[in-house]
Amino acid sequence: MTKILHRQIHQQYPVAAGGDGPYVIDREGQRYLDASGGAAVSCLGHSHARVIEAIKGQLDKLAYAHTSFFTSEPSEELAEHLTSRAPGELNHVYFVSGGSEANETALKLARQYFVEAGQPRRSNFIARRQSYHGNTLGALSVGGNPGRRAVYDPILMKNVTHIGPCYAYRGQRNDEDEAAYGRRMADELEEAILATGPETVAAFICEPVVGATLGAVPAVRGYLQRVREICDRYGVLLILDEVMCGMGRTGTLFACEQDGVVPDLLTCAKGLGAGYQPIGAVLLSRRIFDTIAGGSGAFQHGFTYIGHATACAASLAVQRTIEEDGLLANVKSQGEALQQALKARFGNNPHVGDIRGRGLFRGIELVADRGTKEPFDPTLKLNARIKKEAMARGLMCYPGGGTVDGWRGDHILLAPPYILEEAHREEIVEKLDAALSAALEQVTA
Ligand code: PMP
Repeated sequence: MTKILHRQIHQQYPVAAGGDGPYVIDREGQRYLDASGGAAVSCLGHSHARVIEAIKGQLDKLAYAHTSFFTSEPSEELAEHLTSRAPGELNHVYFVSGGSEANETALKLARQYFVEAGQPRRSNFIARRQSYHGNTLGALSVGGNPGRRAVYDPILMKNVTHIGPCYAYRGQRNDEDEAAYGRRMADELEEAILATGPETVAAFICEPVVGATLGAVPAVRGYLQRVREICDRYGVLLILDEVMCGMGRTGTLFACEQDGVVPDLLTCAKGLGAGYQPIGAVLLSRRIFDTIAGGSGAFQHGFTYIGHATACAASLAVQRTIEEDGLLANVKSQGEALQQALKARFGNNPHVGDIRGRGLFRGIELVADRGTKEPFDPTLKLNARIKKEAMARGLMCYPGGGTVDGWRGDHILLAPPYILEEAHREEIVEKLDAALSAALEQVTA
């Protein structure tokens, strides 16, 4: 009997023992095509020689030194790499160990910024329903995934207001076009700021492309620009959570580049280290940095492993590989081809409501009735069944949804590695088709 408190306590997990490009190999030798990059993490696939070499090289020199004593070459170089490619004036960076820590850090940076800027009343946050920002208490407080919040609700932050997500498939009305829908949803932010009291709001946080909770849903064009304008009008900071959709996943290094918007704080993780080491980061604007630097001169925060040298060395190798191997171009072309292939295969399936996403970040939403968009009964756990059937066929896809929340249904998230080739793409579609048919047969029988 295992001593580990696994996610699903009664489930038997295969033992992952090896990797080969886009495949994970278990102890019995079964190969699994990693069509979801785990949870949109493994963007270079597995066992990448250059990244492993960089990690070994750093370990030979120095694994780690605490940041209250030292900085390190890999962390300084990684900071330079990221900030020189980031949009606008996102000129500084803070390295952590994952996405939740990155969002905790961003919330605290926003708060400290206003204290130092002489606006200490700004302590409220606005976020969106159907979002996910992490499992630590602060990140969970701004998150809007009802299933993940339910048990912990009494111990979450009470200074958070949630507005609706920008989710055209379910939210856009027949009497409005995409632009009007985007305006209406962005205007919910203005209403929330006014209702909360503009001089008390610190920041608004959202995912430019919603990952785990909705399944690769990009905001409609224009939405984020209007959000940016509204934040500026009321002096509210904009935090974009690119933990899942950032670092090239959507075809540009930062997802917000495609929306023409620059946040004040941008969080990333997952694809930053591609799973080779645990790492996350917060990019912050010159204004926030200068205010704290010119004020107390110290950020009241910190973790033991911030700026971990080996994690930064791994991440630097990942980021240089993405750039030098021209992988963003592959993300764009393979992403388009994957979207076309999914549409061709599933576009007429009566239980596939929507196929969406950007780059190699794609979501398929399943519905009981395509006409009414009625979701399947969540107790049927369709998404978990698809995951199980896919694993049995040697395919990893990330399931989501199924939590009771008004109009949300089941979805599957695909986030394959940026090294994807045509043959892998075909294998994804074939295996997914078989897994989906088997799972749908179970719930419609
Ligand atoms: N934000 C987003 C958008 C995420 O998708 C996730 C992870 N699924 C997180 C934050 C939390 O990241 P982590 O699990 O690394 O703490």
